[in-house]
Amino acid sequence: MSEAKATAEAKTVAIVGAGPVGLAAAAHVLERGLRPIVLEAGASVGHAVRQWGHVQLFSPWQYNIDRAAERLLATTGWNSPEPEQYPTGAELVERYLEPLATKTVLAAHVHTLSRVTDISRVGFDKLKTRGREAAPFEIRYQNGQGPKVINADAVIDVSGTWHSPNPAGANGLRAIGERQAADRIAYGMPDVLGKDRARYAGKTVAVLGAGHSAIGTLIDLVKLAAQAPETKPVWLLRGNDPAKAFGGGANDKLAARGELGAAFAALVAAGKIKVESEFRVSHLTADGPRLIVGTGAAGCSRHVVVDQLIVATGFRPDLDFVRELRIQLDPALECPVALAPLIDPNEHSCGTVRPHGARVLAQNEPGFYFAGMKSYGRAPTFLMITGYEQVRSIAADIAGDREAAARVELVLPETGVCSRSAGPAASNCCGGPAVSDVDACCVADANAKQAGKTGCGCAS
Ligand SMILES: Cc1cc2nc3c(=O)[nH]c(=O)nc-3n(C[C@H](O)[C@H](O)[C@H](O)COP(=O)(O)OP(=O)(O)OC[C@H]3O[C@@H](n4cnc5c(N)ncnc54)[C@H](O)[C@@H]3O)c2cc1C
Repeated sequence: MSEAKATAEAKTVAIVGAGPVGLAAAAHVLERGLRPIVLEAGASVGHAVRQWGHVQLFSPWQYNIDRAAERLLATTGWNSPEPEQYPTGAELVERYLEPLATKTVLAAHVHTLSRVTDISRVGFDKLKTRGREAAPFEIRYQNGQGPKVINADAVIDVSGTWHSPNPAGANGLRAIGERQAADRIAYGMPDVLGKDRARYAGKTVAVLGAGHSAIGTLIDLVKLAAQAPETKPVWLLRGNDPAKAFGGGANDKLAARGELGAAFAALVAAGKIKVESEFRVSHLTADGPRLIVGTGAAGCSRHVVVDQLIVATGFRPDLDFVRELRIQLDPALECPVALAPLIDPNEHSCGTVRPHGARVLAQNEPGFYFAGMKSYGRAPTFLMITGYEQVRSIAADIAGDREAAARVELVLPETGVCSRSAGPAASNCCGGPAVSDVDACCVADANAKQAGKTGCGCAS
């Protein structure tokens, strides 16, 4: 069979998003002899990662590179980074994603400035069943030259969650006044020591949230205060126990993540950061150049006055463009239903997640899969390496290799740490890591599950 004919007959797989997991998906799809079409909304690959390019990753290079992508790069004489070193987001793009997308055969398959707006089945609305599975997917996208349409046999939605951050309101809604005060609010992880320095130097800056983004930004604000002494970092957290954010310290198998929490705990203990716990934002009110951040029914029961607010309360998936597909998601996490028990932060806050693939991610819409950061919905514990295993399995599934799709080829770092314990006990969080053949995140979690409970509940 001629190569042209083989290509013409190969199944087409639309991949929404050219982040690390989207590009890995394309590499696996190509290896399977299928035809990937990668549609990326941004002007270049790694568009979301570029927004947090100043942040150092807590996973070293060895966990950040997909194997199929590495095989493609190897054909170009790629100079692979040191496995033990920790890149920044910008280095991840420059040393890995850019060469992968521009110097390998993937270059012919990646379309930037192509924002997917809608996905359906050709000739089938959501209601219609008979014959549905055989109909190709119809993907609409915008590339600045009017609406475009492609058809595909399968779709992998790896569009991440970076562009849909959670709002400030403790109830998950925008706080009252949040939209009007937009000029004093940033979301995610602004570069307070770099390009956004002028906005924050010498200011009172509140950071809302208790995850790694909030912690990293607060640490940077303390560094900024050393250069611009009037800078005052304020930490607003909804919970009542700041120590929950300190992580597993030396117990964390991702050492850089453990160190981040430990460094943060030291700064809090030293009084470098003003802590406002049990602070559930409801109102945001501009007051001249300043911002009143309020809690309570009328927003006046407790408040802080700041110059700037950074909202780092996590992310949620954008589900608008998949609305016409038959999607079933966990009602709380907005992730595939079978994945929810593995990652639910209400059950455990540990980094350990069992590797999983196509079977766990499958939807009622055969041929459609969520993967990457988006597959975790609102859960915060996603690791790139988990996503690489997801797309390896999905590509095998689409190619009809059920045995490879079901196989688990990834051994994840067994983090086994929870965020419950405080002070000296942190080194022995929740009794330490669970034994490796037990499906639990720590000893307390294993004991709770053995006693018929859902888990240790260490995040609650
Ligand atoms: C600050 C930060 C630090 C992190 N550090 C680590 C770490 O150290 N180690 C680790 O393993 N993980 C880390 N993560 C988690 C995760 O691995 C990364 O977020 C990773 O980038 C996720 O890859 P992804 O490909 O799933 O999604 P993304 O990188 O978010 O890529 C999604 C892509 O889809 C595009 N897109 C969005 N909507 C559309 C659309 N409608 N049409 C077309 N394209 C679209 C976006 O522009 C983007 O380029 C970190 C996350 C953050 C936010």
